[in-house]
Amino acid sequence: MIKKDFVIVGAGLTGSTIARILTDNGQNVIILDRREHLAGNVYDYKHESGAMIHKYGPHYFRCGSEKIWNFLNRFTDFYDWSAKILSKVGDEYLNWPVNQDYIEKIAGKNWQESVFKGEASNFEEACLAKMPRELYELFIKGYTEKQWGVRDIELDKDLAVRITINKSNVQSLTPNHKWNALPRHGYTEMVKNMIGDIPVKLEYDYLLHKDDVVADKMLIFTGPIDEFFSYKYGKLKYRGQNRRVEHLKEVNQYQPTIQVNYPGHYDPRIRTIEWKHLMHPDEKEKVNGTLLTHETPFTPENSTSYEYPFPDKFNKNLYEQYKADADALENILICGRLGEYRYYDMDQAIGRAMKLASDIMQKFEIAPVEELA
Ligand SMILES: Cc1cc2nc3c(=O)[nH]c(=O)nc-3n(C[C@H](O)[C@H](O)[C@H](O)COP(=O)(O)OP(=O)(O)OC[C@H]3O[C@@H](n4cnc5c(N)ncnc54)[C@H](O)[C@@H]3O)c2cc1C
Repeated sequence: MIKKDFVIVGAGLTGSTIARILTDNGQNVIILDRREHLAGNVYDYKHESGAMIHKYGPHYFRCGSEKIWNFLNRFTDFYDWSAKILSKVGDEYLNWPVNQDYIEKIAGKNWQESVFKGEASNFEEACLAKMPRELYELFIKGYTEKQWGVRDIELDKDLAVRITINKSNVQSLTPNHKWNALPRHGYTEMVKNMIGDIPVKLEYDYLLHKDDVVADKMLIFTGPIDEFFSYKYGKLKYRGQNRRVEHLKEVNQYQPTIQVNYPGHYDPRIRTIEWKHLMHPDEKEKVNGTLLTHETPFTPENSTSYEYPFPDKFNKNLYEQYKADADALENILICGRLGEYRYYDMDQAIGRAMKLASDIMQKFEIAPVEELA
């Protein structure tokens, strides 16, 4: 029998952040996770080649909040690193996101005159409202249709919010964040330090052992919300990536940057990651050859492969049904990227977890030991 004041299901960023804050404030906490490792989706490890690899896809950290940055710096040093991504268009490697200069090159100085002017009703129209069609077709349409496995007009317009155009001469993926950096010894090490001496039980699926787990104050569940409710309204749709890892022992460098996108339908891959490029300079030179991950999108049935919530109205509404049930539960909080069926960047997931921890403390009238959110 597991019995604690707070039982936290999930050792990812959301669960670990909440666990850390509650523990810092004198609470009695345990973390359960069904995987055999900590850190959830940001899990990384040293491959036999010597390269640091992110098992569930590349994670580039960026952050604009001093509070989140200071919190994380308690658990790791960071080194400056900012993602530079290329798209392979024909035989050329082109910068992604594109910048103003490039748009003018392919669509002329007055390209803004011909953008979509009405009220956008889908992803394609929302993109065409902010860029010329030439750009959309070269870089975005094929990539997006591969990513989601449907036509662009079937996707929600809100998805276009994540597509940005850089100013002239800017090449980084997220130039507007104050910190673009990576934890010096990886995310797993950072999460391990965050958890510290909080008890953790790995390879333990809470949903298979519900009757053996008692949370005297609150259960915090960061797994998939549809699975929590035994899929009673049906399954929420996700996309995931099939990942093929390739160790090229004789090759020093395969591609110019960490990530090369394949935006056309001519290649089933959506992107290839070359891990060396994100390593600290001191470690990079020790890698034997080079290590790649080729990603190809698919629709996962198994909840352990859930990655990107599907951006359409049907799934938004389905989630709302589950959320209404979750809101009606006493002393159970369902949260995190899988609990809220929402794509959170890492800094957003941590910021959200800090806010939730603060709400929990208020609810249970826990006096803060340190200043929180
Ligand atoms: C492919 C991909 C790439 C990404 N790249 C970036 C990036 O470059 N930059 C960025 O800022 N963000 C990125 N993100 C977002 C980042 O992964 C999330 O912000 C972060 O993982 C959220 O953490 P979480 O704790 O909410 O979820 P998770 O990390 O998924 O943690 C949930 C945990 O709950 C456990 N669990 C679930 N059900 C049960 C159960 N029944 N019993 C026990 N344990 C259970 C799971 O095993 C898991 O460990 C990316 C996301 C994806 C999908």
